[in-house]
Amino acid sequence: MSARPRIIILGAGFGGLQAAQQFAGQSVDVLLVDRNNFHTFTPLLYQVATCALDPGDIAYPIRTIFRRATNIHFLMGEVQAINPSQKTVLIKVNGQQRTEVYDFLIVAVGTITNYFNIQALRKHAFGLKDLRDAVRLRNHILRQFEKAAWTQSPTEREARTTFVVVGGGPTGIETAGALFELYNHVLRKEYSAHPHMKARVILLEATNTLLAPYPDRLRQSALAQLQSLGVEVWLNARVADASHNQVTLADGRVIQSYTLVWAAGVRTTPLIETINVVLAAGGRIPVNEYLQVPEYPDIYAVGDIAYLLDENNQPYPQLIPVANQQGALAAKNILQRL
Ligand SMILES: Cc1cc2nc3c(=O)[nH]c(=O)nc-3n(C[C@H](O)[C@H](O)[C@H](O)COP(=O)(O)OP(=O)(O)OC[C@H]3O[C@@H](n4cnc5c(N)ncnc54)[C@H](O)[C@@H]3O)c2cc1C
Repeated sequence: MSARPRIIILGAGFGGLQAAQQFAGQSVDVLLVDRNNFHTFTPLLYQVATCALDPGDIAYPIRTIFRRATNIHFLMGEVQAINPSQKTVLIKVNGQQRTEVYDFLIVAVGTITNYFNIQALRKHAFGLKDLRDAVRLRNHILRQFEKAAWTQSPTEREARTTFVVVGGGPTGIETAGALFELYNHVLRKEYSAHPHMKARVILLEATNTLLAPYPDRLRQSALAQLQSLGVEVWLNARVADASHNQVTLADGRVIQSYTLVWAAGVRTTPLIETINVVLAAGGRIPVNEYLQVPEYPDIYAVGDIAYLLDENNQPYPQLIPVANQQGALAAKNILQRL
């Protein structure tokens, strides 16, 4: 190891940022890598998608965050592979591949949308995992109202103003509610010359309840609030297929809609497979209590991609507080080893 250890952090999300902050001002050189040069505050993505916030409101420049930390260097690029035996990372930067060498590696690359291998969903559904997704969905939604306003066909008008959201977890619920409010409480005034237009929002959930991991009282409350707002909640409704203008359920029901928002699950990225360890449930990387990958103790994994059981033998949830705490802990554990 050189005089100043070199630490590479993959991902400047919640876990990666917390880790980098612990290293600021320490006798280490850190390379923080992300495909974006900004950090995204994911809880408010749905508000960008539904026009309540602008993209810049939830994106923070990474270089600004670390401008006083001279030992933290940022590289914008796409991480393509991890080679644990060589202790290198392959990164695509400006169309060129570069290899970076580490003494310690913190993997904090989060998750991606899970379309459960349904190709039609990959093609036609709108994910809501990052800022690009949110802006794409927002532009699409606004376009649907413009098209609906001028079409002569009532069937097409209805399909363009029918929005299907899949997934009865927090993201699906928030998005469905905000979508309903967007037109019926805000945009409607701007389309006063088109009184026949109204937005219909359908929330589909494959199981028999919203918010499955939450207490029953909260589940019932979420259902009641959505319904009183005007959102249609369809339980036991599993999506089987989709095209650009319709959604087909496994029970044969068909919804005419140009907008399918997919908030029904996440999975880990194929990048993780390059580490070459046996992955745990959900494709997450098993780590020990120090957040090390047992086969490669100089590699740490934190946040959504890490699989660690709590004292009740349950995997830590894929939530921001967990990512924050694990990011900070992994960094402290590395500093302890120097
Ligand atoms: C819409 C939405 C709403 C949410 N709301 C909440 C909430 O209210 N409360 C809560 O606790 N949690 C919420 N979550 C979950 C929360 O976002 C995650 O638990 C948290 O972001 C995990 O942090 P992380 O550091 O593991 O990954 P992330 O924060 O996802 O960061 C991963 C980073 O890695 C980068 N990256 C990934 N792959 C590569 C690659 N190959 N090359 C370069 N860079 C790469 C990404 O650009 C990203 O910056 C929400 C998630 C979503 C999608």
